[in-house]
Amino acid sequence: MGLINAVEAIVSHSFEEFQKSYELKCACDQCKEDIQAIVLNRIPPKYTSSERGQLFVKSLYLNTQLQSDILKELMSAAIIVEQNQHHVTVEETRQ
Ligand SMILES: [Zn+2]
Repeated sequence: MGLINAVEAIVSHSFEEFQKSYELKCACDQCKEDIQAIVLNRIPPKYTSSERGQLFVKSLYLNTQLQSDILKELMSAAIIVEQNQHHVTVEETRQ
């Protein structure tokens, strides 16, 4: 079963863009993954079969509401991770 969460691709792309305009206090892999994991826990997943995946992901890029939700969540997730100096797990930072 090839199921993918299309939101993952969008979040990972948005995160790359986000980093260009926002300087992360710590840009280690752990912090980057934590930020994206927090966002993915907050944005409802959109599952699709991997065969249809590319097309579905493309259509999501045109969803400006989703894009702005993700950007908002990226911003608050970056702050959460920055405020937790000891690379805490995502579970601990969930609200
Ligand atoms: Zn770090």
